Amino acid sequence: MDLNSISMDQGISTPYISAKHWSFGGVKDRKRANGQKSLFLDEGIFMERHCLYCNEPIQGRSDKKFCDDQCRSSYNYNKNAGHSPLVRKIIGILKKNRKIIKELNHGTSGTTKVSREELLAKGFDFDYYTSIYQTRAGDAYFFCFEMGYLKLDNDKILLVVKDNHPLKERDG
Ligand SMILES: [Zn+2]
Repeated sequence: MDLNSISMDQGISTPYISAKHWSFGGVKDRKRANGQKSLFLDEGIFMERHCLYCNEPIQGRSDKKFCDDQCRSSYNYNKNAGHSPLVRKIIGILKKNRKIIKELNHGTSGTTKVSREELLAKGFDFDYYTSIYQTRAGDAYFFCFEMGYLKLDNDKILLVVKDNHPLKERDG
């Protein structure tokens, strides 16, 4: 069957229902009779997408992950439902700490010297970390996932990135 020869007008009795399950190539920006853009994309393959929350087939843009805002918020609400409020809160603090280090440690060298106040001003919480790396010299590096720091003299902090960390993101 030549997919490109199929149009909405031929052979499909319920084009709206059928078309939402797939899209196929060669025809871009086709207009349906009612003026809506059709679901044809210019990737030449069948693509079936389902809502991450309700698993219904998704209509519309190819990057959509949910049917609608309601499915999106239900999904996000339930994502951490298995954790207690305390655990969710701590995960939030750790993720925030990680994000702060990552944002401040933006140089190419992999390390950045900042002040303790700078971290506190951004909401950094020194009480929470995921691991400690103790060097033979006696230095203690504190990590929030792969983003870490070493306390220096005079309230200075050296920000570092742990190499080859299993959780390290590909984009660093
Ligand atoms: Zn849905």
